Amino acid sequence: MRAAVLEQARTPLALREVPTPLPGPGQLGVRVSACGVCRTDLHIVDGELTEPKLPLVPGHQIVGTVTGIGKGVSGFSVGQRVGIPWLGSTCGTCAFCSSGRENLCPHARFTGYHTDGGFAQHAVADSSFCFPLPVGQPDLQVAPLLCGGLIGYRALRMAGEKAKRIGFYGFGSAAHILAQVCRYQGKEVYAFTRPGDESAKALAARLGVSWVGDSTQAPPEPLDAAILFAPDGGLVPLALKAVERGGTVVCAGIHMSDIPSFPYGILWEERMIRSVANLTRADAREFLDLAPRVPVQTEVQVFSLDEVNEALARLRTGRIIGSAVIDLGG
Ligand SMILES: [Zn+2]
Ligand SMILES: [Zn+2]
Repeated sequence: MRAAVLEQARTPLALREVPTPLPGPGQLGVRVSACGVCRTDLHIVDGELTEPKLPLVPGHQIVGTVTGIGKGVSGFSVGQRVGIPWLGSTCGTCAFCSSGRENLCPHARFTGYHTDGGFAQHAVADSSFCFPLPVGQPDLQVAPLLCGGLIGYRALRMAGEKAKRIGFYGFGSAAHILAQVCRYQGKEVYAFTRPGDESAKALAARLGVSWVGDSTQAPPEPLDAAILFAPDGGLVPLALKAVERGGTVVCAGIHMSDIPSFPYGILWEERMIRSVANLTRADAREFLDLAPRVPVQTEVQVFSLDEVNEALARLRTGRIIGSAVIDLGG
């Protein structure tokens, strides 16, 4: 099969023929049709996440069709459409797994990082971590839901049930999905983009957010919570200043540049900073059930597998509007 392979961090992915993986016990074999490109893929390729399996096929927002079923798998059938997300497997027995926090399992394995992912024509995955997908939306539109949507939704929950005015710092894949969920839930979204990023501003405006501005600006009124999707630690003090007393600042990315020091006064009055790590299967089920009811419509920029390095380059330089998705044809 054709695959895009990372041989070594900070080098372009190499397009090559590799053996088609076969599902082992407990696994599904999947013919990939679409795979979303996530900022985490970029952090892996750029060596900011330092422990990938090498060589590696990245990609962890996989939509495809079941073509093979390993020993012991039940509940899936050949020809079924499934999604494979970032959380590839967990130990199932540690204190975190036993308390509904499998996202924090120290033995978790992640798709497209510890195991080969979806920038390829075929993939295999632990069937316990694969999900049937809602019908009605094309594969290319569904793919971004599998990370931008799932982990974004977890971040939104961490912002607090009661938060009504929510700021998004960075308006890319996750934010454009979550803006639609927020509207559905009756929340107001304040979109903060990089100064000069007119296309992100236009996308936010099209999605009906309450306010659009530069990340350096103060919102017109204090926010109840803010979610940082951009991997820029310098945004943390800005977001803290933008939230109301008791407000939460959620850092949603897996990697961020250092947070500069800031005066205690902007954290005082019970403001909180927290991060969000990975996802649980419960998050996935809840979000995949919610998305078609909103209904979430993703805006995607489609690339062929041969164009995967171009997709990554555009994401790196902020030239993707909405979500980037690799079309594997399947
Ligand atoms: Zn565990
Ligand atoms: Zn991701």
